[in-house]
Amino acid sequence: MNAAAEQEKTLRSLSELAEAGLIGRDRIAALQDVAARYAVAITPAISALIDPADANDPIARQFVPDAAELVTDPTESGDPIGDNAHSPREGLVHRYPDRALLKLVNACAVYCRFCFRREMVGPGRGALSPRALKAALDYIRTTPQIWEVILTGGDPLVLSARRLARVLEEVAAISHVKVTRIHTRVPAVAPERVSAALVRALRAYIKNDRACFVVLHVNHARELDAKTRAACARLIDAGIPMLSQTVLLRGVNDDAQTLGALMRALVECRIKPYYLHHADLAPGTTHLRTTIAEGQAVMRALHGRTSGLCQPSYVLDIPGGHGKSPIGPNYLDPDGATIEDFNGRRHRYPPQRKAPCGGATSGAAADDAFGN
Ligand code: SF4
Repeated sequence: MNAAAEQEKTLRSLSELAEAGLIGRDRIAALQDVAARYAVAITPAISALIDPADANDPIARQFVPDAAELVTDPTESGDPIGDNAHSPREGLVHRYPDRALLKLVNACAVYCRFCFRREMVGPGRGALSPRALKAALDYIRTTPQIWEVILTGGDPLVLSARRLARVLEEVAAISHVKVTRIHTRVPAVAPERVSAALVRALRAYIKNDRACFVVLHVNHARELDAKTRAACARLIDAGIPMLSQTVLLRGVNDDAQTLGALMRALVECRIKPYYLHHADLAPGTTHLRTTIAEGQAVMRALHGRTSGLCQPSYVLDIPGGHGKSPIGPNYLDPDGATIEDFNGRRHRYPPQRKAPCGGATSGAAADDAFGN
């Protein structure tokens, strides 16, 4: 626990961070430009997790501004995953045929130093106007292939339960939308916001025969403290299944032991690890990004040594708005003739033939191929 553990308010300025002991007063001048460019917010729940005596604290690294954020690599972009190229209405992203993102609000409870929408989110950016929300919902209503709506932002759970309930009611009235996903960091960074009213709003939605998944953004096992676990349990016990998404970050979770501990902690909380994101090319984030080869090595180290329940899919959002693709590692050689096991040993796999009627190749044919 640090001096900030007793704080009641979210820290939003460098002087408040210094007051709470999260940065030295001598760093304020060097960080002025960072704070002017990218929003800062650290909730009481998060500051209580930070050990200010540890210069490499993995929680601090995610939330405390760093002068390295002023260095923008030429490959980085303010819209690294190409939201704008697929935005037919304000606040709406329709990139894949069967799902659409509804960005309800451009504010968050905390501001992550690696955020892929860091040039779009910040305090005072507020929620979609009623007019823009109506236009976005009209688009979804008139696009029957949209089967799933993903509520995101910013963080949709910074909205009041009443406001969220109204949006969910509108979504529930669209007959072709069967599933809603809510992407949020709130249960981990402001668990008190997972209130009885919020749980009631989500329950009301699923009573309309719709499925609702809450996807928790969490990057380190320490974020899953008792209050966060209790907040997640309130959702899960109410019948709201939870998944997780994690961003692979240098100095935060880029080794198999740390990442494995997080994935196990999630499964113990009944949260299925879903995505491990390769960090996007957001401006000023080079110091937090690993290489893809490093990410694949971490995934390889998890494979076989950590339960299959604990394996997320390692994905890259292709710059330019081309969507996510899994990025391995790959265990099958390109010809499909050998496959690697979790100990790194390779094994032959029988030549495959397409069966004439779409059935599987017979066992006898496979035996022949091996000369048995
Ligand atoms: S909570 Fe999500 S949208 Fe908000 S700053 Fe963090 S990564 Fe960005």
